[in-house]
Amino acid sequence: MASEVTRDGFEARVGVLEHEVESEKRITRYILEQTRRNGDDLPAVKTRLDRVEHRLDGVEQRLGGVERKDLAELSRDLVVERNGETLTWNLPKIVRCHAGGAPDGRSSKRCSAEPASKGAFMKRLLAILATLSVITACGSAAAARPFTDPRGERSDTIDQAAAMEPRDPACHARTLVSAGGAFPRNPHTLAVRWVGFSNFELVYNGRIILLDAYYDRGSEYPPLGVAASDIKSADLMLLGHGHFDHMSDAASIGARTKALLVGAAVTTDKLRTQPIPIQQIKTVTGRGDEMIKLDHLTVEPILGRHGEPAKEVTAVMDRALDEVMPPPTPEQKTESATIRSRGTNSPRVIDEGTIAYLITLDDGFRILYRDSGGRVTDYERAAMARVGRVDLALVAVSGDYINPLMVKLALEHMRAYKPDVIMPAHHDAPVTAGHVAQWRATEPLFQAMKDQNPDIVTVSKEYREPVCFNTEMNVQRGY
Ligand SMILES: [Zn+2]
Ligand SMILES: [Zn+2]
Repeated sequence: MASEVTRDGFEARVGVLEHEVESEKRITRYILEQTRRNGDDLPAVKTRLDRVEHRLDGVEQRLGGVERKDLAELSRDLVVERNGETLTWNLPKIVRCHAGGAPDGRSSKRCSAEPASKGAFMKRLLAILATLSVITACGSAAAARPFTDPRGERSDTIDQAAAMEPRDPACHARTLVSAGGAFPRNPHTLAVRWVGFSNFELVYNGRIILLDAYYDRGSEYPPLGVAASDIKSADLMLLGHGHFDHMSDAASIGARTKALLVGAAVTTDKLRTQPIPIQQIKTVTGRGDEMIKLDHLTVEPILGRHGEPAKEVTAVMDRALDEVMPPPTPEQKTESATIRSRGTNSPRVIDEGTIAYLITLDDGFRILYRDSGGRVTDYERAAMARVGRVDLALVAVSGDYINPLMVKLALEHMRAYKPDVIMPAHHDAPVTAGHVAQWRATEPLFQAMKDQNPDIVTVSKEYREPVCFNTEMNVQRGY
């Protein structure tokens, strides 16, 4: 009987088809663009093809040593083990079966028809598996991509965009670019590294931007694997606020790198007491008309608000942690006092000293950085009403300790900035009692965000692990 298609059903199918055609067109356009850009790189492409050809020769030779019969039988067994949508590779069962025994202790016609000795079969099976692994390795080398853009899990277009480009070591190395690591190969690749508390390094198109500067945290903190003195180059340093755990190394890094240092008045007042040329200091209010322009990007400072954790919670938690965690030693206290003296404790930090930064790259990719987990301000709402949403939000989690309270702030940030991808900050902690002395779990925050917005991509890495983005794919372009 012929099946009937309703008008609505037909239109829906046409809609899906149109969407697919549109996607294909986008991918084709992108690949053509990449091919044009890579035109100068033909010798490199040829070398790479030669290498793949060489590996294929090896596979061919190994295949010669494996009987076709074995592959056919093995593939039959692998397909037999189908469980719902999942293909189960029940190798122990297959091995038992082919080695002369019956699976699950029952007789099997096909098993009993295969009288091969156990040793001989195992040898052949291992040869097949080795061959399969070579084929897989070869396949993945041919389909190498520079890095995995975290948005690839949500978008085929982004996932496939760079599939023909070779792996980019700069997107896998843990060395900060500011400390001598490699720049990403493609000028449109953005590399983001979290470096403890609210420190991030952003690298884009030959530029290095440091967000906050708190690297020499002392022996009370887990090591970051990089010291302030390792940081040799930076173009711009954006300071979210002036507490010591956000600016203690700003002056020393700024003096060495000659970077421009940007912060609220209460932050830059402190900087002016430190050994850094005043021409390198720029004070902002975050109340508008303060756009900072750098090659390939612009930065808009926006007045934010510092976190104000519930006192009834922090009093209890701090007391409890003081009891169970080791207190700092006298040496650690001295060390800590020096570090703390490089920041400010002014009450002005809360409502006039915390700056969020909206960074817009020249290809339209937007980043919102917020180094303290406070309430969203009217200034932030106005800026977001103007730009709509961002591609990436780097946001400090609140210092409230208790999940429901932290979730409330995290959702407020997500709703305000509407990011495609969110990376948390300020969730690590010292190993002694003291300043927010407990790592805060990010999974409960991610879960709450995804419950409200299943499309959001959440990324939390360890210190210095890079996360790379193909910034040609961004909200401005509709991806
Ligand atoms: Zn603070
Ligand atoms: Zn802080």
